[in-house]
Amino acid sequence: MRKPKIVILGAGYGGLLTTVRLQKLIGVNEADIVLVNKNDYHYETTWLHEASAGTMHHDKVRYDISNVIERSKVDFVQDTVVEINKDEKKVILEKGEVNYDYLVIALGGEPETFGIKGLKEYAFGITNVNSSRQLREHIEYQFATYNMEAEKNDNRLSIVVGGAGFTGIEFLGELTNRIPELCHEYDVDFHKVKITCVEAAPTVLPGFDPELVNYAVSTLERKGVEFLIGTAIKEATPGAILVGKGDEEPYEIKAETVVWAAGVRGNAIIEKSGFEAMRGRVKVNPDLRAPGFDNVFIIGDSSLVINEEINRPYPPTAQIAMQQGELVARNIAALIRNKSELESFTFDNKGTVCSLGEDDAIGVVFGKKLTGAKASFMKKVVDNRALYMIGGAGLVMKKGKFKVF
Ligand code: FAD
Ligand code: NAD
Repeated sequence: MRKPKIVILGAGYGGLLTTVRLQKLIGVNEADIVLVNKNDYHYETTWLHEASAGTMHHDKVRYDISNVIERSKVDFVQDTVVEINKDEKKVILEKGEVNYDYLVIALGGEPETFGIKGLKEYAFGITNVNSSRQLREHIEYQFATYNMEAEKNDNRLSIVVGGAGFTGIEFLGELTNRIPELCHEYDVDFHKVKITCVEAAPTVLPGFDPELVNYAVSTLERKGVEFLIGTAIKEATPGAILVGKGDEEPYEIKAETVVWAAGVRGNAIIEKSGFEAMRGRVKVNPDLRAPGFDNVFIIGDSSLVINEEINRPYPPTAQIAMQQGELVARNIAALIRNKSELESFTFDNKGTVCSLGEDDAIGVVFGKKLTGAKASFMKKVVDNRALYMIGGAGLVMKKGKFKVF
């Protein structure tokens, strides 16, 4: 009898955890496992703010996929997914195609620009290793060029971050640590640097604990960030952005660096492939299958799971993507063993920690509020745990964060 083929798209948190769990759960005689990913490496999306600011080298953020998969059990295909043909159970890749019996879509998310003019062209994103490397180099280039010009262009030292969600705040934490180093390295007066964070909501980190939000805001203000709250980015132009409150006439902020960190949507492949989605995310069934498709699971940033307590979607996080990956592996193992009962997904929220640079953070862990060194230590524990879940102690030793203050 032909063995069923399980195809996993994306080697991020969700896809890679699904793969390593499946390679343990399933015998080589039971099914073929194929993992497809754009790159031959996995990157820690949750560390990209560090690579983007230049406080961590981008090679520290990534590791080879071959380090964590067993090549005797998993066939790794390095290629880019173009579209999924659900009727023919086939994935179209840039360099070929692959058929599946069971499909796991774990292609992550993309920046949500809400159709705001100029953002795609003129703003930087914190999305993957390449975008982080580009942003870091761009900032450094502005500092390096500043003193080269006879007529000083202060806009080179003006950086705007759009969105004060977790990504924006974590990036600002790293950036404010990096700026003094850049000033020293390129003989630039620290007081000339202008960092502005523009947030449309009435508060930084909307929905997070107000006491912890105050801690983050005062820490970042002390390090030179100016917050414009209740103010939205309306347009990006070369070298500037237009911002405004509500319907007020927008005004211009000049900046050679604009970082868009104002939210994510599901991978464009989802809508292109004809799945019914909200902002590119599919509201999955309790067993994490796409509605109407018994053999297609969707997890991570391209999936949407409702928090029944508040009747709103859970925010897309690595934490939820990894928990989904574990469940999907078990559910696929059940399906290929002809068990009809699949497990339902319940999110076990262990808390949230938001870093404010390498040595500071805020967080709520198991219901307890933390700030400063304790929170920062917890953040490293969380980061190391993700490595451990995918690659065990060996990966933690290679890539883990151990600096204690
Ligand atoms: P990802 O981990 O993004 O992986 C998607 C994979 O698919 C990638 O390997 C990508 O290369 C691949 N891929 C994409 N498109 C294609 C294609 N067409 N073909 C082939 N391969 C493709 N969450 C937390 O829980 N805790 C945190 O502390 C945290 N910090 C964050 C910090 C930052 C700066 C950012 C940006 C996000 C953070 N998040 C955090 C959110 C978290 O990173 C995401 O929710 C998580 O990465 C989603 O996992 P995923 O498996 O869906 O996708
Ligand atoms: P987000 O959606 O959480 O925050 C985006 C912010 O941008 C919001 O505060 C929103 O009000 C603001 N915004 C939207 N449009 C705007 C505009 N036009 N002008 C100005 N501000 C605007 O997005 P994110 O911070 O990128 O996070 C994405 C996901 O990743 C979330 O689920 C988040 O929880 C997760 N994440 C978690 C961590 C962590 O746990 N430490 C870190 C980073 C990201």
